[in-house]
Amino acid sequence: MAEDNERRYDPAVIEKKWQQRWDADPTLYAAEPATSNKPKYYVLEMLPYPSGQLHMGHVRNYAIGDALARQMWMRGYNVLHPMGWDAFGLPAENAALKNNTPPREWTLSNIAAMKQQMLRLGLGYDWATEVTTCLPEYYRWNQWFFLRMYEKGLVYRRKSKVNWCPECATVLANEQVVDGCCWRHEDTKVEQRDLEQWFFRITAYAQELLDGLDKLDGWPEKVRTMQRNWIGRSEGTVIDFFLAEEFDHGLGTREPKTGIRVFTTRVDTIFGATSVQLAPEHPLVTTFAAADAKLKAQVAKLLEEQKKAREAGDVGAIEKHGVPTGRMAINPYSGEHVPIWVANYILMDYGTGAIMSVPGHDERDFEFATKYGIEIRQVIEPVQNENASKLPFVSEDGVLVNSGEYSGLSCAEAQKRLQEVAEKGAFGEAKVIFRLKDWGVSRQRYWGTPIPMIHCERDGLVPVPDDQLPVILPEQIEITQQGGSPLSRVPAFVNTTCPKCGGPARRETDTMDTFVDSSWYFYRYTDAKNAKAPFAPPTAQYWFPIDQYIGGVEHAILHLIYSRFWTKVMRDLGLVKNDEPARRLFTQGMVIKDGAKMSKSKGNVVSPDDMVARYGADATRMYALFAAPPDRDLDWQEDGVAGVSRFLGRVWRLVTKYAPIARSAFVREDALKGHGGAPSGSRAAEAKENTGALAAEGTPSGPSLKLLRKLHQTIARITLDFEGRWHFNTCVAAIMELANELQGADAQLAAGEIPAPVVRELLRTLALLLAPFAPFFAAELWEQLGKGGAILRTPWPESDPGLAREDEIEIPVQINGKLVTVVRVKSGADAKTMEAAALADEKVRLRSAGKTVAKVIVVSGRAVNLVVK
Ligand SMILES: [Zn+2]
Ligand SMILES: [Zn+2]
Repeated sequence: MAEDNERRYDPAVIEKKWQQRWDADPTLYAAEPATSNKPKYYVLEMLPYPSGQLHMGHVRNYAIGDALARQMWMRGYNVLHPMGWDAFGLPAENAALKNNTPPREWTLSNIAAMKQQMLRLGLGYDWATEVTTCLPEYYRWNQWFFLRMYEKGLVYRRKSKVNWCPECATVLANEQVVDGCCWRHEDTKVEQRDLEQWFFRITAYAQELLDGLDKLDGWPEKVRTMQRNWIGRSEGTVIDFFLAEEFDHGLGTREPKTGIRVFTTRVDTIFGATSVQLAPEHPLVTTFAAADAKLKAQVAKLLEEQKKAREAGDVGAIEKHGVPTGRMAINPYSGEHVPIWVANYILMDYGTGAIMSVPGHDERDFEFATKYGIEIRQVIEPVQNENASKLPFVSEDGVLVNSGEYSGLSCAEAQKRLQEVAEKGAFGEAKVIFRLKDWGVSRQRYWGTPIPMIHCERDGLVPVPDDQLPVILPEQIEITQQGGSPLSRVPAFVNTTCPKCGGPARRETDTMDTFVDSSWYFYRYTDAKNAKAPFAPPTAQYWFPIDQYIGGVEHAILHLIYSRFWTKVMRDLGLVKNDEPARRLFTQGMVIKDGAKMSKSKGNVVSPDDMVARYGADATRMYALFAAPPDRDLDWQEDGVAGVSRFLGRVWRLVTKYAPIARSAFVREDALKGHGGAPSGSRAAEAKENTGALAAEGTPSGPSLKLLRKLHQTIARITLDFEGRWHFNTCVAAIMELANELQGADAQLAAGEIPAPVVRELLRTLALLLAPFAPFFAAELWEQLGKGGAILRTPWPESDPGLAREDEIEIPVQINGKLVTVVRVKSGADAKTMEAAALADEKVRLRSAGKTVAKVIVVSGRAVNLVVK
C-alpha cells in the first residue's frame, strides 16, 4: 500500500477518475424539490454566450460561484446551481457568413464543446436544468411573455432610427458600425433610417426601478449608482413658450396654437431665459426650415454633428454649435420675446427636445451665449452677497432678482409659485422626467426569437394566438445580410393566415433583442422542462430571489436593469412574488495579462484548456481564486499556476504519507464500537464521532495542540470569509499556512507523537477546507483518508473557539504611565495571575528596585499598570 500512497500528484489521473464518476451521477449536483426541509440557496453565475471556447474570465466567474455552491452544499443547504447558454445573437450569423455553417449547427456544437470544458473543470452544475435560449422550448416563452406584455400595453410599435448601410441594403447593429461606416463596406457611410420598431415600455417602471435600488443593499454600490444615473430621474417643470409670429399675425388672443414645450429643473430662473433652443429634429425646426433653404442647410449640418457625437457615444462632449432661426418665442410669465435657436447638443429624444437657455445660471448655456453673443442676465443673487456679480451663478441657494413680482422669493419658493401659476394658466406643470428610454427590442436579424405578431391588411396588427406558439424560426435559411431582414426572404415563414379573419397575412419578420432571452432565464432553471408554462409559479417562488448572483460589472446597466424590469412585469402578471431577481450581486474583476485585457489582437490570450492540460483543473481554478481578491482585476501569471500546482503536490505527499495513520483511527474506533468500516451515515453522527474520538485521547497538548489550534483558526477564517467578504485569495493563503505547519511537524508525525485521531482530524479537515477550491483533489484525498461518502455531502467543519484561541496572550506592563515590558500569560488568566506575572518580570523588578509599588491596576486581559514611588 505504502508505495501506492506515496505516488506523485498526477492531476490528469485524479481528475479523469473523478470526472467519470461525477458525470455518471446526475443526482450529485441536483437540487432537491421545494418540499426539502433544508434551507434553500440559489447561487448563479451569468450564463455565457456560446462562442465555442471558455476564456479565463469565465473560469474565474465560475470558480467563484462553484466554490460558494460547494461550501453551501457542505453547510447543508438545498443548493440550486444551474448553467445555460445565451445562444441567440449576431456572431452565429457572422460565422454562417464566414464558414457557411448554419447558425443553429454552429451554436449547438459550440455549446457541446464548452460544456465539455465545464465538466473538465469540475464545475458542479445541475445539468438537468440546463437552458438553451435558441431552442423553441425556451424562446416560445419569450413569445408568450411578449403577448402578455402586449395585452397589458407594455409592448408598442413606433418609428425609430436604425443604422442602414445603403450598399448592403440592410440594417446594421451598433457593433457593425465602424467609424461611421459599414463593417463590410469601409467606405460606405452608414445612414440613419426611420423604421417601425417594437418597444417594451420599461419607462412605466422607471420610478419603481429607481426606488428598488435603495433596498438592494446586497448589490455593489457602484452598480446601484450606475443604474441610478442610467434611469436619470429629474424633477422640474414643463413650460410652453408661445410662438411670437402667431400673435404678430393677428392670432394674438393669448390662445396660441403652437407652444414650444421646454423642460427645466430651474423654472425659478425663467426671467433670465434669453433664448429658446430646439433640437435639429424638432418638428418646428422642420417647419421653419421648409420655408428657409439657408436654415435647412445649417440644420442639416448641426444634425450631422449630433449624429457623429452619438455614434462616438458622447453627446455630452460635443462642441456646441447653433444657428438662430430668425423666429421669436414669448416667455409666458413676462411676455418677453426671445430668439429661437437650433443647437446641435439638444436631443429630440431627451426631455421635450427644446430648452430655455439661461446663461446667467447654467454653465452650458453660459458657454453657448458667450460664444454667440446672446444676452447674459442675472436673475438669482446669492443669499450671502459676496461674488454677486460672478456669473454663471448656478446654486439654488439664492433669491430672485429682475424677476417681476417674484423678485425677493427664494429659489425653492419661486419654483413652487411659478409651477402653480403655470398650472392655473394651463401653460405648464410640475413634471418628473427620466433619462431611461423604452427598450427597443426589434432586430432585423435572423438568429433571434421571432416576434409573434401578424400583419393583416384588414385587421392591422394581430397577435399570434397562444395555441399557435411557438412561432418557429425556420432552420435552413440563406444568410446573406443583404436586402433587409433575413426572415422577410423566406416566403414559407412570411406568408400566413390571419388568425382573426382567416385571410392572407404576413408575419412580423423582426426578431427580439437577445437581452430578452437573458432577462428571465434564471426563472426557467427552476422548472426547465415545463412544456405548459415558462415555469410553475410555486417552484419559482420557492427559489426566488436568487441568493447570490455573480457576473461581470459590464452588465451593470442593460442586463441587470432589463431583468429587474422583467421580474416586476412577472410579478404584476401574478407569476412571482419577489420584486427583485437577486438579493445579492457580486461583480468579479477582469482577468488580464501583462496589464492588458486578453484579446486575440494583442496575442495575450491564455487558454483554459492549456492551463488545465499543464497543471490540472484544480490548480487552474485555485489560482483563479488565489491570485487576487475576486472583485479586483487578476493579472494572469503562469508561474502562479505552477506554484499552486506545487503546493497541491506537497499536500498530496503529506496526506498520502499519513493517510494510513488516519485510517487506523477508524479501525480502532470501529473495533471499540463493534461494527465494520461502513461509510458513516448522518452529518450529526460524523461530527459526533470526530469529537468523541478526540475526547477519548484526553485534552490535546504539545505539538497536537499547536496543530489543532492552527487548524481551528483556519476553519474560522475561511468560514467567515465565505459569509462575507469573499477574499478567497486569503482563504487559499490560510490553507497554505496550515499545510506548511503540518509539514513542519513531519518529524513528530513520523515519530507517532501525534495521536491517530488527531492526525485524522487534521488531514480530513484539510481535505474539507480544500473541497470548495480544488474539488477533484479534495475528493481524492477524502477517499484516501477512508470512510468514503461524497465529500460534498460531508458537513463543513466547525471551528472550536476553545481550540482556536491562542493559549498565551501578550500583556503590556506600564510603570507610572510608561511602557516597560510585555509579559505573556495564559489566555483567560485572572487579575491575580496577571499581577504576579508583571511583578515577576525582570525589567519590572529592576525599575522598581528600592521603591514601593503603591498601586497595581489590572485591566482584565489587556494591561497591567503599576504606580511606583
Ligand atoms: Zn455594407
Ligand atoms: Zn385579418
